[in-house]
Amino acid sequence: MKAVGIFGGTFDPVHIGHLRTAVELREHLGLDELHLMPSARPPHRERPGVSAEHRLAMLRLAIDGGEPGDGGLDCDGLLADDRELRREGLSYTVETLAQLRNELGGDVALCLCIGMDSLVNLHTWQRWQELSDYAHIVVAARPGWHLPETGPVAQWLAGRYTDDVQLISHSPSGRVLVEAMTLLPVSATQIRENLATGHSVRYLVPDAVIQYIHQHGLYKQENS
Ligand code: ATP
Repeated sequence: MKAVGIFGGTFDPVHIGHLRTAVELREHLGLDELHLMPSARPPHRERPGVSAEHRLAMLRLAIDGGEPGDGGLDCDGLLADDRELRREGLSYTVETLAQLRNELGGDVALCLCIGMDSLVNLHTWQRWQELSDYAHIVVAARPGWHLPETGPVAQWLAGRYTDDVQLISHSPSGRVLVEAMTLLPVSATQIRENLATGHSVRYLVPDAVIQYIHQHGLYKQENS
């Protein structure tokens, strides 16, 4: 069965923490392709200071996946997916999953990859209980965060949780798996701060992205 993953975020800007996680997710889950998907208008956080178009352009440079039209898939199986930029309104994940499921058909394993911090707050997402109708949920373990043991998400997890990665790649949707990841201590917040104060972000962000940031004057004090 073909397997496709989605890894969403603001990517403001994309950094090595995102990229390393994406590579590991694709390998551990045996995904044919992993879509990195910038949220155009994230429902749960302040509007990013840098436009969705710039954030997408930086992501494309980071994974070197070429332009849309040539498939955009790089040698690590990563792909920059702009579908949330092409939609009006807030970027609700359930709408993205429904759209992708419609495109892929029923015979493809679809995995939504989120952090444990997001899983704990899943009940605040739009139509959250429908998410597993369209996809498996793969949760990246994060230090300091645990699976909820009480409350609506805990109840929803019962019967869906699995530690068997085979179940994920051999069925289209409906399961929740927790994956241990290498968590590099890097955040976009720290990178924006470095840039605003004139400090280097070398080796935290791919060189091509640094070049783009400087070319377009992004993340200077007034933009950050
Ligand atoms: P910010 O500092 O602006 O909140 P961020 O660095 O956390 O940004 P996001 O774009 O919000 O980045 O994150 C997108 C996804 O990447 C989320 O699922 C988040 O949990 C994950 N992520 C962020 N930083 C890391 C990291 N260092 N290692 C692994 N995953 C990360």
